[in-house]
Amino acid sequence: MTGLRAETAAGLPLQRRGLMLIVSSPSGAGKTTLTRLLLAEDRDIDLSISVTTRPKRPSEVNHVHYHFIAASEFERMRDQRELLESAKVHGNFYGTPIGPVEKALAAGRDVLFDIDWQGTVQIYERMRPDIVSVFVLPPSAAELKARLERRAENTAEDIGHRLQNARVEIGHWSKYDYVLVNNDLDSTFVRLKAILDAERQKRAEKARVAELIERLKADLDAMAV
Ligand code: 5GP
Repeated sequence: MTGLRAETAAGLPLQRRGLMLIVSSPSGAGKTTLTRLLLAEDRDIDLSISVTTRPKRPSEVNHVHYHFIAASEFERMRDQRELLESAKVHGNFYGTPIGPVEKALAAGRDVLFDIDWQGTVQIYERMRPDIVSVFVLPPSAAELKARLERRAENTAEDIGHRLQNARVEIGHWSKYDYVLVNNDLDSTFVRLKAILDAERQKRAEKARVAELIERLKADLDAMAV
């Protein structure tokens, strides 16, 4: 049970608005593995599927991991304000389509974002109260490099580029609500789930209190006559 629903004082189900769980990290710190584990285990959270102009990797499925689009289509979406945020990362463009996010949140579903710090800053400006942000760090630079090499889906040049970018990306850790050092995948995953559970309960509690406040106000108004 994830605490998606709260109960009203009258015992009726009260649905809270969905939350936005942002997970960022330098490439290779384990973020994608963590987010895939979460999506597989937790039925109350949906992945925000980004658009990207980057070529598809062999292990990826179009419209499941990303919507792979041409640069011209990316520009059109950005110009027509169809993206909640967008950024250039490792030389390619990425962006979050706004429609599915708003629909999910309004329906009380939580949404998971695997985006970089630039996108996080943009979303914070627009939707701060809905956001829970987590930054995942590798335990060491050597481990980060080894993980990128093990992935075998990046060229040596691309790995070098990603390591240089990691230097910049880790400098933005303090913009996030939580930081997880990914020493061990299993324990990092447990900590990620604990964060999500606590934030869900906090929001469910707020929804309960908001409902009680409305009822108290109405009753006090009635007593004032
Ligand atoms: P990759 O090419 O390895 O899938 O992703 C590279 C980086 O781009 C990762 O740090 C990932 O979190 C980030 N990214 C993926 N989608 C988006 C997006 O829609 N917006 C932003 N700002 N970053 C994204």
